[in-house]
Amino acid sequence: MKHIAILGSTGSIGTQALEVIEANPQLFAVSVLTAQSNVDLLIRQALKFKPLVAVIGDVQKYQILKEALAGSGIEAKAGEEALCEAVLLPQTEMVLTALVGFAGLKPTMSAIKAGKHIALANKETLVVAGDIVTALAKQHSVDILPVDSEHSAIFQCLVGEKSPVEKIYLTASGGPFRGKDFAYLSEVTRHQALKHPNWVMGAKITIDSATLMNKGLEVIEAKWLFNLSVPQIDVIVHPQSIVHSIVQFTDGSMKAQMGLPDMKLPIQYAMAYPNRVANNFKRFNFWDYPSLTFEAADTKTFRNLALAFEALEKGGNMPCIINAANEVVVAEFLKDGIGFLQMSEVIETCMAKLDYVKEPSIEDYFETDRQTRIFAQELVGAV
Ligand code: NAD
Ligand code: MG
Repeated sequence: MKHIAILGSTGSIGTQALEVIEANPQLFAVSVLTAQSNVDLLIRQALKFKPLVAVIGDVQKYQILKEALAGSGIEAKAGEEALCEAVLLPQTEMVLTALVGFAGLKPTMSAIKAGKHIALANKETLVVAGDIVTALAKQHSVDILPVDSEHSAIFQCLVGEKSPVEKIYLTASGGPFRGKDFAYLSEVTRHQALKHPNWVMGAKITIDSATLMNKGLEVIEAKWLFNLSVPQIDVIVHPQSIVHSIVQFTDGSMKAQMGLPDMKLPIQYAMAYPNRVANNFKRFNFWDYPSLTFEAADTKTFRNLALAFEALEKGGNMPCIINAANEVVVAEFLKDGIGFLQMSEVIETCMAKLDYVKEPSIEDYFETDRQTRIFAQELVGAV
């Protein structure tokens, strides 16, 4: 029985992880559940899955949580510090980081230091501080098991391989605006951007998918997870989202992992690794997909992908800058505070103007994140 702490249990990944746990009570149990503000759902989940601790990020909602869990034996906690403490519980074997954004960095590091294996959905943690986080995992003999479908695909292709990788191809759906031009994109609304063709996900990652920033973040995530150099990572648009990614070895042989787009699969794989768990998820039918197609990504129109590659090449705190700027512009776009194309403009200006640090410490990353948010917010105010 594996006891799992789920950070961000009320989100898209969190709720799907709970479905997997519910279907496999002989394999998995929940030790911790956390959410930022959806206290009602957190309470329902806690009463059903009986964790030892439930944490609400928003301290104003602590009383509601505490009263609802009174007498249940489940401890109620609140705030950012409580999140970092909750992952330390000795009963927890694995922490699923299903929370969104830079907020994942601290609790993930705290979990690694406590020797907990990480099922990593929160890609932003590796984007911001991949060097420090992967070194820390090595130091504490902790596995970082990818939940992101593309990285799970690559991880699955690498199982049993001892030879080096020549390169990887991360597949991208292209998002809802694939094939569109600047004129079209200058007019798109958040409602259009929130309609992803193949996946139902949280708001931030859905916008990131529409701008191709998600693929940019995934390129950086892949660099750290698989210890690759930039030229070893390629992105290929595959609108059907059936081939989840491809590894090419030094003999030219390529392995791909395929399946219907369903996040429960990579979630379950990370949670049960090295085993596979039988399930009744819908199976692939070839006649529903008579052709699988591949095309180049349009990085001239969707500049975020090119900016992410640039940030990775520059290294240092540049990926941290791009991540913080992106979190600000996506939040603004979701409030109709900024247009679709302006998101890339603000990110590019942040990359040009903020202080570059070549070998950042963890404190430098926190400072870069703070300064970038302030500057990006000023830029958004000016547009
Ligand atoms: P979501 O918005 O649906 O859920 C986010 C969860 O995190 C919620 O439970 C929320 O309460 C919590 N949260 C939000 N802000 C927080 C904060 N500041 N502190 C603590 N908790 C906070 O997001 P999601 O789509 O489930 O994505 C979660 C992570 O997984 C992201 O990093 C995303 O990039 C990654 N991911 C998601 C998918 C997907 O299909 N949804 C696929 C691949 C990777
Ligand atoms: Mg992905």
